[in-house]
Amino acid sequence: MSEIRQDRTNGEWVIIAPSRGERPHARVLADAKTPRLAIDPLCPFCPGNEDQLPAIIDEYSSPEAPGWHTRVIPNKFPVLSTARQVPSDRLQSGYGNHEVIIETPRHDIDFADMSADCSEAVVRTWHHRFGAALAIPGIEAVMLFRNRGNLAGASLGHAHSQIVALPFVPPRLRSTLDWEYAHFQTSGKCVVCEETERELESGKRVIECTERYAILTPFAAQRPYEQWIVPRRHTPSFAMANADDLAALSDTLQNALARLRNAKGELSYNLVLEPGSLDSEFAPAAHWSLRVVPHLTNPGGFELGTGMVINPSSPERDALHLAQSWG
Ligand SMILES: [Zn+2]
Ligand SMILES: [Zn+2]
Ligand SMILES: [Zn+2]
Repeated sequence: MSEIRQDRTNGEWVIIAPSRGERPHARVLADAKTPRLAIDPLCPFCPGNEDQLPAIIDEYSSPEAPGWHTRVIPNKFPVLSTARQVPSDRLQSGYGNHEVIIETPRHDIDFADMSADCSEAVVRTWHHRFGAALAIPGIEAVMLFRNRGNLAGASLGHAHSQIVALPFVPPRLRSTLDWEYAHFQTSGKCVVCEETERELESGKRVIECTERYAILTPFAAQRPYEQWIVPRRHTPSFAMANADDLAALSDTLQNALARLRNAKGELSYNLVLEPGSLDSEFAPAAHWSLRVVPHLTNPGGFELGTGMVINPSSPERDALHLAQSWG
């Protein structure tokens, strides 16, 4: 069972989840060396191995293709889990929810390799499960992320993403929302809309700009080759993205990942959804977005000590390289 603990000496939150240590690590290392099969008989996420799944919560198909496109399962080693009722102490009981989205029946492809139809099914599944997680009683924030490659923390090679529903607003999201709120109070503007406009005007860190999304390297990028996908229309929460936004996101993200691969080769990366907020108080101030964060550096002692990141690259140079790494 998990517990959410706060360090009494500095206020930082930690999820203590001993069962996570039992996850299948050996497979990833093997995956990196051996040629990948379309279906791996040893992979629990591959078709035919359903008996290894804890359950199947939902399956999404498309009218254009038979069979399933995406599958939603409970995480076998959940960080947090739900009780029938909201427990009186949500932190100590490790209350929450943890789902895995198997993004494709194919073992050998990543998001960038999927047909447009299949990648769109993934984004629609994210949106659907994100909304479902927000609706769980006692849940205050939902984090959606994707780990690809063993350096990014993926314990399985099969393309998948995860959704964790938390009984509190985690510190990074809390401080982002507070920052955005304070900016709105003083300027009457959404800080993300303002930043996007400024970046599109300057053009120094613009990788691509489509009808619905700006793809930028952040002015203060934390990692080399980080890509920030920002909706150009002010949208406070990912839950409020409409069908056209989702279709365009699928396309935009495929392009972003293909560019990263063209520029730097196969590498580990994370996708992190900045979820924004559905709270009406934050509606004019919060603005969801998506970050593609490649693993080209490892945080060292300075980072651990200061909580401040050293990015050994130049966001301007990275943006240029990514913009030129097309096709
Ligand atoms: Zn597989
Ligand atoms: Zn599909
Ligand atoms: Zn905005």
